[in-house]
Amino acid sequence: MTSKNYQLVIVGYGGMGSYHGKLLKDNQNINIIGTYDISEERKTASLVDGYAVYESLEAVLSDEAVDFVLIATPNDVHKDIAIASLNAKKHVICEKPVTINSHELLEIMEAAKINDRAFIVHQNRRWDEDFLTMKKVYDEQTIGDVFHIESRVQGANGIPGDWRHLKAFGGGMLLDWGVHLLDQLLFMVDSKITSVFANLSYILGDDVDDGFQVFITFENGITSLIEVGTTNFIQLPRWYVKGTKGTAVIHDWELNGKIVTQNLGEVEAPKPIKAGQGLTKTMAPPSEKAVSTSDLPAAIVLKESFYENVISVVEGTEEPIVKNEEVLRVLRLMETIFKSAEKNEVIKDFDAVPSKNI
Ligand code: NAD
Repeated sequence: MTSKNYQLVIVGYGGMGSYHGKLLKDNQNINIIGTYDISEERKTASLVDGYAVYESLEAVLSDEAVDFVLIATPNDVHKDIAIASLNAKKHVICEKPVTINSHELLEIMEAAKINDRAFIVHQNRRWDEDFLTMKKVYDEQTIGDVFHIESRVQGANGIPGDWRHLKAFGGGMLLDWGVHLLDQLLFMVDSKITSVFANLSYILGDDVDDGFQVFITFENGITSLIEVGTTNFIQLPRWYVKGTKGTAVIHDWELNGKIVTQNLGEVEAPKPIKAGQGLTKTMAPPSEKAVSTSDLPAAIVLKESFYENVISVVEGTEEPIVKNEEVLRVLRLMETIFKSAEKNEVIKDFDAVPSKNI
């Protein structure tokens, strides 16, 4: 581990900018030396929190003491701030969704290359315990070969805040939450996408989507349903994953859930049950001896935390855990989802190249 101390400025000191302040509070290697925000109210909040305030982005970029710029503004201005910062020879950490389209990210990646500086996107939900628990079930084939993955988040509070309601700022739930769930899915399933079919919801009457459902199929046969909702007064499980030998469920952020697997050998046949106005054996619960229920495993531990990895990347000792090529693929997938929903069509040409060779 490095003993060097890096100086960081947060640009956009709103909800997430100030949360980074908390995340970095005890970090031994990164020191927050100030913030820049266009809002007077947020400048005052920064001073109250003990961070000096810069009066302009130019003032941040011309300060030679600054090693890192952390971008936590609304999504529409990520690109311009990132490119200006990279051109000023700063390393950049950028909030998700990195940009509002894939062309903007390509421009940033070019600027990072030309200036030989790190550009790393805060896809922090790769470190979420629920995700890493399900990734473990997937990787270790605890329920046999996984063939279907459902990942969803559902709220009942509509779209929060102001700019998230507006297209011009990169608002909407696909860009906001979709980016996390799709990033997790593509980090878990290493296979080419063969088809995408999506619909977006506009229940709240905003000019951006307030939720979506997307059905994605992979070349290895896995199907997946990714869903975000903001008008769900009853929630479905966070994860529901089916394998050839069992099913795994995670209900909530507290990781309530279980694994049910099929027992080998001869088992008692299920007894028919009365279901509604009919009789069924097909839908009867399996007999007690036919299945075993177990707890979810402990989550996988990634090699480094997000910020440890940022430092290792800058010092050239590790590869980024969140690679820009992966972020680009997720952005392209979101563009394909918008296209599928707009045309009401299944899109089949998404992964023109295998995932490993983007
Ligand atoms: P917010 O509205 O609370 O904060 C944004 C701040 O940026 C505001 O204080 C605003 O005044 C400031 N700002 C706007 N334009 C600016 C500019 N040109 N220069 C400097 N400051 C500017 O929004 P938020 O919820 O904090 O979201 C900010 C970013 O963080 C978004 O990209 C969002 O998607 C992301 N985010 C990520 C997570 C996560 O878990 N990774 C969670 C929440 C938000």
